[in-house]
Amino acid sequence: CGIVGYIGNKNTTKILLDGLKELEYRGYDSAGLALVNENDIEIYKALGKLENLKEKTKNILDENFELGIGHTRWATHGKPTELNAHPHCGQYSYIVHNGIIENYKEIKDYLISQGDKFISQTDTEVIVHLFENINNKINDTKQAFKDTISQLKGAFSILLVTKADPGKIFFFKHGSPLILAKGNEPQEILFGSSDAALIGLAQDAIYLEDGVGGVVSKDEIDIFSDNYIWSKLPSSKQFAQK
Ligand code: GLU
Repeated sequence: CGIVGYIGNKNTTKILLDGLKELEYRGYDSAGLALVNENDIEIYKALGKLENLKEKTKNILDENFELGIGHTRWATHGKPTELNAHPHCGQYSYIVHNGIIENYKEIKDYLISQGDKFISQTDTEVIVHLFENINNKINDTKQAFKDTISQLKGAFSILLVTKADPGKIFFFKHGSPLILAKGNEPQEILFGSSDAALIGLAQDAIYLEDGVGGVVSKDEIDIFSDNYIWSKLPSSKQFAQK
């Protein structure tokens, strides 16, 4: 339902929680974060209000994380439980997803036939497992991400982080909204499923078109398409796109 992402030197946990707060108006049943430092990825998930997630993260609020992704979920596949809350993971990668993977059953059956095991009832979990299945074969995260996307049907706006390629957020927009923004500080990148989560933190943004994806790090924005334009975010929340 709601997506946020951050790379930068500010307090990653706080920025993600504040961003999710701005997306609350859309409704949700659970929320979660993946917080990343090099090869250390910590996951926090909570059912119900964002306050519950805040409670779980209060002891790490002063810790430094170089990047992170966050999600508020509106369950479509699998009950609203902590286990089904995003981020979902494989062996070494983590994903947040808005939308519905219509062909998730076929992908799941294929992966299970290869010996894969799933822990959630969501459609989302197949994306991250498929990514790892492909990456394990070709050992090329960018290509594995593209190949994964090419096999998905439905609506999927996603952010993915992987220990196979630390310091980066892979993203793709199809169906559900997703905005990529350059933060006000140098080497700062933000994502939001609505600009409400970005206003005040960023000015230059791309309201991504369907079918546009890429990979960002603090030093580089690599978009796998020419189909994008930078525009200015509204300067106050009053004008934010809802
Ligand atoms: N289909 C996914 C799920 O049920 C994502 C739902 C959403 O957009 O929040 O977990």
